Amino acid sequence: STAPVTVIGLGLMGQALAGAFLKAGHPTTVWNRTAAKADRLVAEGARLAPTAREALRASPLTIICVTDYEVVRELLSEGDGELTGTTVINLTSGTSAQARQAAQWAGRRGARYLDGAIMAVPPAIGTSEAVILHSGPRADFEAHEGTLGVLGTLAYLGEDLGLASLYDAAGLVMMWSVLNAWLQGTAMVRTAGVDAATFAPFAQQLATEVAGWLPGYAGQVDKGSFPAEVSALETDVRAMAHLVEESEAVGVNAEWPRLIKAIADRAIAAGHGKEQYPVLIEEFGTSQAGD
Ligand code: NDP
Repeated sequence: STAPVTVIGLGLMGQALAGAFLKAGHPTTVWNRTAAKADRLVAEGARLAPTAREALRASPLTIICVTDYEVVRELLSEGDGELTGTTVINLTSGTSAQARQAAQWAGRRGARYLDGAIMAVPPAIGTSEAVILHSGPRADFEAHEGTLGVLGTLAYLGEDLGLASLYDAAGLVMMWSVLNAWLQGTAMVRTAGVDAATFAPFAQQLATEVAGWLPGYAGQVDKGSFPAEVSALETDVRAMAHLVEESEAVGVNAEWPRLIKAIADRAIAAGHGKEQYPVLIEEFGTSQAGD
């Protein structure tokens, strides 16, 4: 299909999004605060709208991808009831509360609204490598699925508008946790003269193995039952003590190892020592004492 589409925000990501629509033959209207960033896209056939307001009205579907929701608010909050028949898909990164708020701004102008999150870097846009999460009314997602599909691999998470942002944040904690663990290990082996490149394949193999445990462990979390099938938490905590001791002994930062152990120690104190690691969900799933 070659439905018309508008892209608002031509930063690194917005340019990639607009470029993918043009490449797929969609009549593409663009707008950016700094108009010069549209030059290359206009040369490729995009139409530059003179104002954000006109860009929003130019197509039945508008993608917004700007720095943050403060900018989204500026773009959506002026005017009233003039975007009836328009669907806005906001791919700006933010929190789930911000996503629900933005849906209200769009709703006040009569627009339909879906929220999304891009789990990819700009060069991947337009390939199946680019995973783009969506949440909001299913019918609105399905109405534009064909057009959106040129951007990458689409995932529809559900009607709750906050889900895309929530998954985005949940993905970020995966990413930074794996990277921090790798950096900790790298810092440790470097004290023995082992370089990062030598350690990396070992780290990669371990990360892959641990990732393989997730579906089975998720089953324990969902059942709320944590029998120690391969290892008891009290055994893990003894190994955590070695990790802390070794980090301190070789003189690297031990705050991340100490945090890992502190969380497990609390679960042991609560009587979970004979259970398996995913029992720690109780430490993550409740707010801290004093909140
Ligand atoms: P850039 O910094 O490259 O672009 C920011 C965009 O926001 C520009 O178009 C900029 O306009 C616009 N903007 C900022 N302030 C205003 C304002 N006050 N009024 C109007 N427009 C404004 O960021 P990216 O394109 O990289 O990122 C955009 C979104 O995509 C972010 O939410 C980011 O988290 C998300 N994202 C980015 C990824 C990446 O790898 N780059 C990956 C996944 C998500 P101007 O050109 O005039 O400054």
